[in-house]
Amino acid sequence: MKIKTKLTLGIGLLFCLIVLLAALSTFYINALSKDAKNILTDNYNTLEYCREMLNALNNDLDSPSQQNLFAHNLKLQKANITESGEAALTGKLELDYQLLQAEVSKDSLIKIIQNDITAIMQLNMQAIQQKSLIVKESSTNSILWISITGAVCFLLAFTMLMNLPGNIANPIKELTGSIQEIAAQNYDERLQFHRDDEFGDLASAFNTMALKLAEFRAGNIAQLLIEKKRIETLINNMHDPVIGLDENKKVLFMNHTALKILGLQDKPVTGMAIQDLAMQNDLLRLLAQDLFITSEHHHSKKSPSSPIKIFADGKESYFEKEMIPINIIPTGEKEEVLIGNVILLQNITPYKELDFAKTNFIATVSHELKTPISSIKMSLQLLENEKIGTLNHEQHNLVESIRDDAGRLLKITGELLNMTQVESGSIQMNIVAADPAEIVAYAVNTNKVAAEQKNIQLAVEQAGDVPNVMADREKTSWVLTNLISNAIRYSYEHSIVNIAIKLMGDVVQFSVKDTGQGISPEYVEKIFDRYFRVPDSKKEGTGLGLAISKEFIEAQGGQIRVESDYGAGSTFYFSLNTV
Ligand code: ADP
Repeated sequence: MKIKTKLTLGIGLLFCLIVLLAALSTFYINALSKDAKNILTDNYNTLEYCREMLNALNNDLDSPSQQNLFAHNLKLQKANITESGEAALTGKLELDYQLLQAEVSKDSLIKIIQNDITAIMQLNMQAIQQKSLIVKESSTNSILWISITGAVCFLLAFTMLMNLPGNIANPIKELTGSIQEIAAQNYDERLQFHRDDEFGDLASAFNTMALKLAEFRAGNIAQLLIEKKRIETLINNMHDPVIGLDENKKVLFMNHTALKILGLQDKPVTGMAIQDLAMQNDLLRLLAQDLFITSEHHHSKKSPSSPIKIFADGKESYFEKEMIPINIIPTGEKEEVLIGNVILLQNITPYKELDFAKTNFIATVSHELKTPISSIKMSLQLLENEKIGTLNHEQHNLVESIRDDAGRLLKITGELLNMTQVESGSIQMNIVAADPAEIVAYAVNTNKVAAEQKNIQLAVEQAGDVPNVMADREKTSWVLTNLISNAIRYSYEHSIVNIAIKLMGDVVQFSVKDTGQGISPEYVEKIFDRYFRVPDSKKEGTGLGLAISKEFIEAQGGQIRVESDYGAGSTFYFSLNTV
């Protein structure tokens, strides 16, 4: 039977029983009250009238008030004839009373009337007794029927109370347990309801769902295994070494190339903690070191990591390391969690080889060009010597222009040569105690002619005594010369370039300040990059001067930076350690 039908029937039955009980009670209470009323109106009133009449007789029936009382009660009794034989007795009483009024043998009549009244009273008393028996019987009947109905109601309600809640709640409880099992991925869970009500339907729908979920999981696992194999094959066939770690820094996978360069081919590495493996493997320690740097430290070390040189396969190879953190947002959550890292090594040996070739080529070319350019400059000096002959105005202009171009060419070849030294890592530093004022004087002197050509004043400032610095004189002079040369090139005519030296703690700070066009904020970070030139810069140049300056200063343990107010000028600072 359906739950809905069961509930309707149960509640309906209870409702019917309550109605039946109420109807039965009303019926019997009505009957009892009717019987009682009958006794009261039919017989009790008669007894009352008779008593009044007897009183009147016993008092003084000669007085008109007593006569009236008697006549009145007799009249009422005549109107209240309810029992058989009562009418005849009342008629006789009336007749005797009339005789009494006619004053015929008064005493004997009074006796007769008393007898008449007593006879009426006895008749009614008998009737009351009879009716009481009937009332008693009907009250016993009503108690019996009401009790039977009440007992039936109680039994039915008790049976329902015992069965119905469990009948509904038990399957729900069982269903909740099964749903929890399914949520815990136990897809073999089934409901065994074997009923043909709504719960039976629910159980069969639930079992179908569990079956489909089990099929879905089986399908998914097979699919996942295929995908896993595919990805493993892909990673193993990659020429670049790849190492996968879980959130506890345990090795999930290492492809063949990674195992080969780390020399771990014969060792079981999967599942091992990377720190344990790194203890015996220097290269792995180098690769994994980022994992153990605290996040604060990590942020401060933003500079890109330099290529790692590894001797593998009988030759030197260069790799660029990339540490990729794997973050996911778990289903139902909002925060990202780290579930592991992938260390990727990119083999950049071919690019490195090309880079070496390029650097070598530039070094050779610029070195070879330096000598002829220097001899062109010498020849031009000779040409201008009046002892050899005088040049006319046009010839003089031509020589001037050739000399400018030769100077520029020499600067470019010099910068290229310096750059090749920087790139090949072969900068030779000759660090000695040097006087900052001497370096400034040299750089100012070198730029004197260029400044005069643009009517720019080179103002040198020295705050107090400045001690000697530990520096490579030649390279520091080159840097300062380059900064002053830039300041002149990027300044307007008739302006001032301030060159200052100042002791700041245990370093000496050199600064070159101009009031030129300045540098747009978006490029300030980039101007120290190799070959970078601010776009649309009209001045000629290679974009190498500041990059070389940075390398030279940092190689001496110093620092270089710029502050620029776009449109108002720039100040370049570099600092070197005092002796
Ligand atoms: P370049 O040979 O182009 O001058 P640098 O490395 O010396 O190469 O400078 C890089 C770029 O920085 C320049 O192209 C120029 O745009 C900018 N720059 C350098 N110095 C100044 C300066 N004093 N004022 C404005 N811009 C400058």
